[in-house]
Amino acid sequence: MPVTPAYPPRSAPRIYVDVELSDGAEIRLDGNHAHYLLKVMRVRQGQPIKLFDDRTGEYLAHVTTLGKRDLILQIDGRTRDREQVPDLWLCAAPIKKDRFGWIAEKATELGISRMIPVQTSRTQNAAIKPDKLRTHMIEAAEQCERTALPTLDDMIWLKELLENWPADRHLFFADERMHESGEGSFRKALVAHAGPAAILIGPEGGFTDEENALVRALPQSVPVSLGPRILRADTAAVAAISLWMAGRGDWNGLPAAK
Ligand code: SAH
Repeated sequence: MPVTPAYPPRSAPRIYVDVELSDGAEIRLDGNHAHYLLKVMRVRQGQPIKLFDDRTGEYLAHVTTLGKRDLILQIDGRTRDREQVPDLWLCAAPIKKDRFGWIAEKATELGISRMIPVQTSRTQNAAIKPDKLRTHMIEAAEQCERTALPTLDDMIWLKELLENWPADRHLFFADERMHESGEGSFRKALVAHAGPAAILIGPEGGFTDEENALVRALPQSVPVSLGPRILRADTAAVAAISLWMAGRGDWNGLPAAK
């Protein structure tokens, strides 16, 4: 009986670098990257490291010089081009504590292309920390092997978001009240609406009547139900993104195109 390894052999560390990479280039890492590779991953001379730049793609490199607080890598070659991420935005009202950071991390893993924090009248946590959100997204992208990062917008009021809504993009509006109506089948909505999309998730307190009406007045809005139970905003975000990814995203669902 062959002995299967207790766990897969350790794959090469994979990090995002905010500089354009190219075959054969040499790059010096310091700061947090160096600390992670030197102290946490204890990389050795010659060890392979995967890099991606959210511009040209992913590369395999190896360590050529180890310093106390920095290290030099030599790029050996490109392993993947920057991917085409499914065209799905997440528009979500910030929620308390780091649950919003958790949404940013999960939405990145699930494959969104853009995250737009939306201020609504019941938003309880209007002070988002963009740097922390971006760190969650970068770390999630490193771990889930994305080669393209989602973009993160500044917070915007719901009214302003809707006033500038792009004509060609469906807005799947997660309306927590519509289940009783028997309407809002997400599956039917996915079959009916191909093309660029966004998902709108409210805050812990939900949307006000005015906000609900405002969103429904948008021609591109597609109210959907996420079932008979009231989900926490973070649960709703993950559920809605997963449904769209399985239906119209890159999880082998319906053709994403029109
Ligand atoms: N406190 C509100 C619910 C807010 S839940 C209430 O009790 O009514 C936070 C957000 O998650 C909602 O605004 C909605 O966007 C989404 N959501 C939660 N459960 C949902 C459901 N069953 N159907 C559709 N959206 C839901």
